[in-house]
Amino acid sequence: MKKPSFYFVALVLLMASRVFGGEVAIGVFAFQGERAAASDWSPVIRYLNQALPAHQFRLDQYDAAGLRLAIAGHRVDLVITNPGYYVTMEAEFGISRIATLDTQESHPARALGSVVLARADQTKLRVLADLAGKRVAAVAPEAFGGYLVAAREMLGQGIDAESDLKEIRFVGLPMNRIVEAVQRGEVDAGIVRTCLPEQMASLGKIRLEDFRVLSGRQDPDLPCALSTRLYPNWPIAVTRQTDPVLAKAVAMALLAMPESDGMSWSVPADYQPVHDLFRELRIGPYAYLREITPEGLARRFWPWLLGLLAVLTGWIVHTVRVEHQVQRRTAELRDSLAARDQAEAKTRESQEQMEHLSRLSVLGELSGNLAHELNQPLTTIGTYARTVLRRQESGTLTAQAITEASNEIAREAERAGGIVQRIRHFARKRIATREVADMAGIAEEARRLIVGMLARAPEVVIEDRLPGNCQVLADGAQLQQVFLNLIKNAMDANRDLPSERQNLRIVIERQDSRVAVHVIDQGVGLDAAQLPHLFEPFFTTKPDGLGLGLPICKTIIEAHGGRLWAEPNQDAPGMRFSFSLPCHELPA
Ligand code: ADP
Repeated sequence: MKKPSFYFVALVLLMASRVFGGEVAIGVFAFQGERAAASDWSPVIRYLNQALPAHQFRLDQYDAAGLRLAIAGHRVDLVITNPGYYVTMEAEFGISRIATLDTQESHPARALGSVVLARADQTKLRVLADLAGKRVAAVAPEAFGGYLVAAREMLGQGIDAESDLKEIRFVGLPMNRIVEAVQRGEVDAGIVRTCLPEQMASLGKIRLEDFRVLSGRQDPDLPCALSTRLYPNWPIAVTRQTDPVLAKAVAMALLAMPESDGMSWSVPADYQPVHDLFRELRIGPYAYLREITPEGLARRFWPWLLGLLAVLTGWIVHTVRVEHQVQRRTAELRDSLAARDQAEAKTRESQEQMEHLSRLSVLGELSGNLAHELNQPLTTIGTYARTVLRRQESGTLTAQAITEASNEIAREAERAGGIVQRIRHFARKRIATREVADMAGIAEEARRLIVGMLARAPEVVIEDRLPGNCQVLADGAQLQQVFLNLIKNAMDANRDLPSERQNLRIVIERQDSRVAVHVIDQGVGLDAAQLPHLFEPFFTTKPDGLGLGLPICKTIIEAHGGRLWAEPNQDAPGMRFSFSLPCHELPA
């Protein structure tokens, strides 16, 4: 270390002489054997007595408990101790360092460390983590360089020295004993302060090659084997009661102290690394971290508790928000479902209305013929009635003639009544239903309605090729309307053609899982340009047409899960209108 200049020393001495004199007690932590306190620190006492002649500096040696009592009882003005004990007393009594020891061998801030030794033939012991389940010797539970420093490094490698070793044997001082115990194989490893093995080797007590350093590392400031990080050297500290003027004078004097026996003093080092060690090991000022009291837990885990509280608060806020949103969305969904139901009901209503109108329109178109049709039975009835009257006037009325005429009148009346009945049935307003329906039966009913209303109805042949187990689930009246529209359109298409082309065919068959119905005519057909518009509303080629029949048929078929389409006949004139519905399988 650098020697302070002569003038600086003279200045310090001058200042010091002005300080109020008296006896100054320096309490020294002296652990027996390791550092012979009186002889080691005597140069310091000598120097201080010489530098500050107004005072008589006295060295009092204490063990750990004794030094604590001395500080508590204000029996010491200055304290020289190891870094671990200093940090403990700093926390407990507020002692405060004024200088750090500076030795020739090391840097004051990185002077103390430990070396963990095993025998070189213990090939499985290479790092501190290998010590799990092994026997380890150390100085004492509170020894800084002789235990704590290494315990921290072990913890860093996942080994708790108190619980993960097979045995931790505290053998006290001198430390040589630890090295010897390792050598004899009494323990698997030993913790000693750094540089001790080198010192022993230089004295010829051991051979370094007989040992291995666990988790060895290097430090440019320390030319010895090392297993741990380095900590600041011993400090000298003042107590809360120490006169500040004296404290300042001592500090300045120590900083100015020329190197003596390889020892001098430098500005106080940072002892935070020592605090960190104590905190990690949860000892000394941080022993409370081990207490499992609510307060201890709170002190230790407050950042976590705070985090937990934040998470909990966040979660509650989130839950409330989500709940609120769910309620809002549910209400929106309910409203929109209600609106949809309303819209559906409206659509259904207007569809039913349209179907009804369409039925009336079919009837309207057929009504001319209907009048003619009804006229026929009425004329026959009139004729028979008049014949009976005439024969009664001429006296030629026989009982047989009355019976015959009455029978004819009744039959014709029934025929007319049947026509009227079917029309009323067809034209009435109704609500859609779904039931097992017989497709051929519905086609037949439609055919009879048409034929009943027309004087010269074409021949309509129904070919029912449907197997017995395949029916449809449908609204019979709606399907009947589809048939009526398709038949009427077919008849319109072949109206002006020769009678052999007027016949229609209705084919009902199974196609895979569906029932297919084809209404086939041989009429005028439709040209290719018109074909794509066939199912568009209001598309019509008839002067009095509405263009609604086919769109309505399509709606009805699609509402039944089916399909309606049209195509020109392959090899013959005319069109073929087809629809298919899912087959409702009946049990065999
Ligand atoms: P409308 O009969 O009132 O015209 P539709 O929707 O029933 O209304 O028919 C639309 C058009 O489709 C008809 O005007 C006609 O041009 C054409 N069409 C329908 N069926 C046939 C058919 N079997 N043959 C030829 N054209 C047809």
